[in-house]
Amino acid sequence: MSEHIGQKEWTKEKLTAWLDVTGTEEEQLFRHSAAVKQEYVGNSVYLRGLIELSNICEKDCYYCGIRRSNCKVHRYTVSHDEVLAAVRFAYEKGFGSVTIQSGEMTSPAFIRRIDRILREAKKITQGEIGITLSCGEQTEETYRRWFESGAERYLLRIETSSEALYRKLHPDDAKHSYARRVEALEALRKTGYQTGTGVMIGLPFQTAEDLADDLLFMKQREIDMCGMGPYIAHADTPLWAFRDQLLPLGARLRLSLRMVSLLRILMPDINIAATTALQAIATEGREEAIRIGANVLMPNITPAQYRDDYLLYENKPVFTRNDEDELAYLAAQLQKINHHIGYYRKGNSPHYRKSDRVQTAEHHRQ
Ligand code: SAH
Repeated sequence: MSEHIGQKEWTKEKLTAWLDVTGTEEEQLFRHSAAVKQEYVGNSVYLRGLIELSNICEKDCYYCGIRRSNCKVHRYTVSHDEVLAAVRFAYEKGFGSVTIQSGEMTSPAFIRRIDRILREAKKITQGEIGITLSCGEQTEETYRRWFESGAERYLLRIETSSEALYRKLHPDDAKHSYARRVEALEALRKTGYQTGTGVMIGLPFQTAEDLADDLLFMKQREIDMCGMGPYIAHADTPLWAFRDQLLPLGARLRLSLRMVSLLRILMPDINIAATTALQAIATEGREEAIRIGANVLMPNITPAQYRDDYLLYENKPVFTRNDEDELAYLAAQLQKINHHIGYYRKGNSPHYRKSDRVQTAEHHRQ
C-alpha cells in the first residue's frame, strides 16, 4: 500500500484495502496499532471474569450453538449462590470486574434474578467490583433497572452492521429485528452504560466491505468497548451448511486481528477485548490480539460443571486449568509480550470517562 497508514481520513475504501493486507503490509499495520495502543491505553490488560449464567435462550440465531431450536443442548442455569461465589473469587483475585452473560430471556423472573445478583454482588464486594452485563435485548426500562442496581457496562454485539447480512443470519421475525437491536444499543447509551458492541468476523456471505462498514458503525456510534471475534461454525446450526464457503481458520484469525488493529487505530481510547473465539482457533490468539490492539481479557470463571453446555461454536476452549492456574498462566503469557494485568482495577473505558454520559449515569443513580 503506497499511502501511509496514519495519513488522511479512514474511508470505507481505505479500510477495505487494509483489511486485505498480508505479509509486510500487515506487519506495518500491526506495528502502527500497537504504537497507538501503547500511547492511549498503555500495556495494562484488564480482566473481566466471565460468568456464563444460563444457556436458555429465546432466540434462534442461525449461527449460535445454544439457539432455541437446538434440542441437543442440555439447558442449565447457574444458581444464585454459585454466581456469587464466582463474583467473590473474581473480587478476591483482583479481577476488578466480572461479565455476566446469558442466553436471552425477557421474563419478569429473569429480570428480577439479574437484579438480585447485581445488588448482592455489589454488597459482597463493598461496591468495588465492576459489572458488565451481556444479556441481550431488553426494554429500556429493564436496562435502567439493572443500571440502578449496579451494572455499569453492557455488551450487546450488533453481530453485523449490514442489515441485509443480519437478515441472512437470523429468522425473519420481530424477535430478530435489526432495527430493534440498534434501538437496544441506543437505549443502553442513553441509560448511561459504558456501551459495548461487536461483530463476528468471517461469516458466510460477509465481504470485506461489510467489515469496513462494521468498523465505521462502531466509530460513528462512539462505542466505549468492543468484543469481536472470528465466526466459528457449529454443526447443530443452519449456517453449518455453508461451512465450505468460509475462509480457512488461519485466515479468519488473521482477518480478526486486522479488525482489532484497525479498530484500535480508529478508536484509540476504547476498551477492546481479546475474545475467546480467537483462542479457539490458535492457542495464543488472544495474546496476539493484545500485542496489536486489545486491552481486555475475559477469563471464564463459570462453575466448571456448566462449561460444556455453553457451546456457542465448535472447539470452544472449555476447561484446561483451574481458575487460579489460569490466572497465573495468563499473567505469565502477558509478561512474555511485555504486558501486565491491571489487578484490582475496574478498567473503565477512557473513552467513556470523557463523554457526557458520565453525568447521565450519575443522574440516573441518584
Ligand atoms: N444473548 C446475549 C449473548 C449471546 S452469546 C446477546 O444477545 O447479546 C455472545 C456472543 O457469542 C454473540 O453475541 C455472538 O457474537 C457470539 N457467537 C454466537 N455464535 C457464535 C459462533 N458460531 N461463532 C462465533 N461467535 C459466536
